[in-house]
Amino acid sequence: MTPNLSTAALRIAIPIPLRQLYDYLPPVVCDPAKLRPGIRVKIPFQRREVIGILMEITTEPQVPWEKLKPVIDIIDSEPILTPDIWQLCLWAADYYHFPIGEVLISALPILLRQGKPPKLTKEIYWLLTSEGNTFDLTSIKRAPKQIELLKLLAKHPEGLTHKELRAYKFTKSILNNLAKKNLIASFGEHFARNKNPQKDPLILNAEQQDAVNAVLEKTNQFQAFLLDGITGSGKTEVYLQVIAEFLKQEKQVLVLVPEIGLTPQTIQRFRERFTEPVVALHSGLSEKERLNAWLTAKSGMAKIIIGTRSAIFTSFANLGLIIVDEEHDLSFKQQEGFRYHARDLAIMRSYFNQIPIILGSATPSLESLYNAQLKRYQHLCLPVRAGGAQLPQVNIIDICKTPLEQGLSPILLSEITKHLNQGDQVMLFLNRRGFAPVLMCHACGWMAICKRCDMRMTYHQQPRRLHCHHCDTHKQIATHCEGCGQKELLAVGQGTERLEQTLAKHYPNVSIGRIDRDSTQRKGSLEELLDKIQKNEYRILIGTQMLAKGHHFPHVTLVAIVDADGGFFSSDFRALERMGQLLLQVAGRAGRAEKPGKVVIQTHHPDHPLLHQLLRENYHQFAMSLLKEREQARLPPYVFFALFRAEAYDAHHATSFLKELKGITENSGMNIRILGPISAPMPRRAGRHRVQLLIQASQRPILQNLLKNLLPEIENIPNKHRVHWSIDVDPLEMF
Ligand code: ADP
Ligand code: ZN
Ligand code: ZN
Repeated sequence: MTPNLSTAALRIAIPIPLRQLYDYLPPVVCDPAKLRPGIRVKIPFQRREVIGILMEITTEPQVPWEKLKPVIDIIDSEPILTPDIWQLCLWAADYYHFPIGEVLISALPILLRQGKPPKLTKEIYWLLTSEGNTFDLTSIKRAPKQIELLKLLAKHPEGLTHKELRAYKFTKSILNNLAKKNLIASFGEHFARNKNPQKDPLILNAEQQDAVNAVLEKTNQFQAFLLDGITGSGKTEVYLQVIAEFLKQEKQVLVLVPEIGLTPQTIQRFRERFTEPVVALHSGLSEKERLNAWLTAKSGMAKIIIGTRSAIFTSFANLGLIIVDEEHDLSFKQQEGFRYHARDLAIMRSYFNQIPIILGSATPSLESLYNAQLKRYQHLCLPVRAGGAQLPQVNIIDICKTPLEQGLSPILLSEITKHLNQGDQVMLFLNRRGFAPVLMCHACGWMAICKRCDMRMTYHQQPRRLHCHHCDTHKQIATHCEGCGQKELLAVGQGTERLEQTLAKHYPNVSIGRIDRDSTQRKGSLEELLDKIQKNEYRILIGTQMLAKGHHFPHVTLVAIVDADGGFFSSDFRALERMGQLLLQVAGRAGRAEKPGKVVIQTHHPDHPLLHQLLRENYHQFAMSLLKEREQARLPPYVFFALFRAEAYDAHHATSFLKELKGITENSGMNIRILGPISAPMPRRAGRHRVQLLIQASQRPILQNLLKNLLPEIENIPNKHRVHWSIDVDPLEMF
């Protein structure tokens, strides 16, 4: 058939920040009737070649026919995104008011964004042979590296890739050596697969069983469940047993976890249970591995996909269930560019697919608790620790009148000594990395400030320098005061580095492990540290919130929160909720096995009523009090927010841009409240002044309508090209 060029144009979404689609002519040798929305095309755009996605075929292009350029290439014959992801992206672009081209493209692995074919490749996996499994290691005593490799593979019955083994510093010659002896062998596979799971399902307690039954009653319909279980109550066991039923029905399962929750231990817990392939999607993968993982899900081969935020956009052949673990975690919200909330998108996806979804947490977000109150979510509670482990005993230490040694009170030090003497592990939590948060002049009070952000720079000792945690600027440590010139500069306050130093002085013969962003920069170093903690090689653990979540440390009996005061004075209305969540998550690391645990909290506000409620009653009571406050103050989840942010080198540009925006909004006649423009809580970052405008509405549709009408108007604001602006629907942080 000869294509009729003058009757069909292709309307294409392009990944650029403009909220607009572009029309092109189909290639000459192509029947437009055969092209389906959702395929990738290569097109000329502003003297570049870009990859776009076909949205529709139209007979009425936006520009005259003779001005249309032809596309360069049609890449796919089939839509690259499954219909449900397509629907999810359209919904998300609409709800978050973000350009559809950028949304669709961000749903694809990088290699597909670049136009590469969706081709599945195999990896080489190394496994122990049956001889290797029964081999007597003492017979190769003089080859420690070989022994190490055999031991490692014994722990990974699903196999390890070349790349993973290289990360453990095993060379090709060691591999070949052992392969020659027939102790190990390699296979080409699409994914790691555990052929012999070693762990059987546990016998559930009554609450766990009720939770499993409740979900299994709704396997073929949309229903959201809030699995609200204290730390150690066995939520993961509930997930595993629910998943087992879905796998029996040949369905796939998506598990979303927070960024720092996706450790090898997490993946291992799933692999120990199931023979079905468990595939992880995380930031440590190479682009090829990521594409492969994505394709194994799309083809239906991978049965369980565990991933962080962006895994919500994975295509599946037959998705049956979504689980969002630690649903309250901030990392589910993307804080720049396409500002979506993966938990909220997961709810929408379950709804579109008509499948159940489980949101699990020991400290659910107020939004989810509110939805449970309204019966939108079915509330499943696990109020006791599974397997008989006891809840830790909590001591609050008033440090107002106590002499502190670098932030540590005498009571805390004696507790540490006691637990170390009993042979147990001790964990100290301090949510501040570096040596000290402030470098100050003793004579005049001058402080080292980042000139680009107007914020204090953190003093680091390893390596020695000043570091701005907001814009990543590094500076040599000043030798004298910039105010008065004298030489005595003091490091004020505690960071994790300093805490480590103080404890090393106190306990010179005790091994100390520190986990924060600085100590885990090298790839694989977090895994190494966690592994050593599991093996009880460190007796004292120090960490920031990286240490707080999800990990299971069986030997820890004492958890100390060195400074619990951070959340009391923040200008962010969510600060108390966050503080409560963090305190309980940290406290939840104590005494998770047979040994009872103890939690010590140092604070200047021992009588704060909410702190008491949190610790003496429970998270639920605490959350209910916060919800009541939010209702009275007309704050989310009772009202709905959208935040416009504007940044510019000249503060005036940002403010006048938002003033214009405010003017348009006020004329809309809609029932909304507008606050601002005001300076952001952090008024300057990396040299740019930051201003914001907050829009509040009592109903979601009112807010959505307003934004829909507002966005085209922004294009007409004269100085819009002088500012960086963005819109954040349901903002989680006001920074
Ligand atoms: P959560 O995810 O709620 O923090 P986990 O699922 O990690 O809790 O369970 C905590 C511990 O309790 C784990 O060691 C787990 O093996 C154990 N556990 C869970 N359920 C049971 C059960 N029904 N019987 C015995 N032990 C259990
Ligand atoms: Zn000075
Ligand atoms: Zn800075």
